[in-house]
Amino acid sequence: RYNFCAGPAALPEAVLARARDELLDYHGRGLSVMEMSHRSNEFVAIAEQAEADLRQLLGVPSNYKVLFLQGGASLQFAMLPMNLLGQGGSGNFIQTGIWGKKALNEAKRLGFSHNVAASSEASNHTAVPAQDALQVSADAAYLHYTSNETIGGLEFDYTPHAQRDDGANVPLVCDMSSNILSGPLDVSQFGVIYAGAQKNIGPAGLTLVMVRDDLLGHAPSTTPSLFDYQLLADAGSMVNTPPTYAWYLAGLVFQWLKDDMGGLNAMDALNQRKADKLYAAIDGSGFYSNPIAPRNRSRMNVPFVLADATLESAFLAEAEEAGLLNLKGHRSVGGMRASLYNAVPEAAVDALIAFMADFEQRRG
Ligand code: PLP
Repeated sequence: RYNFCAGPAALPEAVLARARDELLDYHGRGLSVMEMSHRSNEFVAIAEQAEADLRQLLGVPSNYKVLFLQGGASLQFAMLPMNLLGQGGSGNFIQTGIWGKKALNEAKRLGFSHNVAASSEASNHTAVPAQDALQVSADAAYLHYTSNETIGGLEFDYTPHAQRDDGANVPLVCDMSSNILSGPLDVSQFGVIYAGAQKNIGPAGLTLVMVRDDLLGHAPSTTPSLFDYQLLADAGSMVNTPPTYAWYLAGLVFQWLKDDMGGLNAMDALNQRKADKLYAAIDGSGFYSNPIAPRNRSRMNVPFVLADATLESAFLAEAEEAGLLNLKGHRSVGGMRASLYNAVPEAAVDALIAFMADFEQRRG
């Protein structure tokens, strides 16, 4: 069976098997990782190894803190303005879909100054605005974007940038929830990168935040401790009990990426191949379609519709019978969506393409 769920998503089988082997008795210690104190030597070693492996995979520079938090990517929508606008200035947002809008709305809700620097709404979010279309406000404290819109299936094909009037770069903040670790990344271009874990990192309940040192320490003193990046960084993400088991599983995923999959360049090539195949199958049929501009088509989330929408439920039921799970599109947009995260093997894409061709032949 293959799981195309958008999140919580498939985890690598090798990771699940190792977690199962270690479930009741971690390395002969006589207890499960779930039962360990987060302050114990055993757990601290697990936590530090996970961070070291992530730093190595992504080449995270030493002037960035890596935080392992709770609250999901959605809590970061609020924590970002709380931490980065505490001294004034405005949050600038590139809008390319539902998640970017939620990030903007949370800043609005908290009463922070904000500006929409560019939006793809006029094209119904089918093409990412070009770099020259960005209109960043003079008081911009950061520029936020969503590198991959999980619902629309729209992915940036470039890294945006903006300068202040004095020539300094505006810190770039990116929600990478659904495409982090899908390929190599130049972390030094960013002020903050964040991601909910439940797609390419691990299970739900963990949120990864990477923040450049100069952006720490700007939250007002009334900010709750758990929302203050500086305090979280000072405490090694252990101001309170962290999501220990999810952190451990994320560490297993990082090891799998390094040791089993050959790192992020290899992952990049594999993800490109998987996505190219599926889009080619969609484009080559008169029955399936995807509306996104080719250069912005997401490699991770491939939405598509059938020429005859009345066949959708039959498509989903038959796909499920064929072992192809969770292909239903997001409830807000309908249609189909195949999520092709790192843990989805190429064989899953081949099986989906074969099923789609067969369905089209029989029902199209
Ligand atoms: N941002 C993106 C791009 C997402 O895909 C999601 C969830 O699917 C979120 C944010 C929200 O994440 P969470 O549920 O961890 O708050």
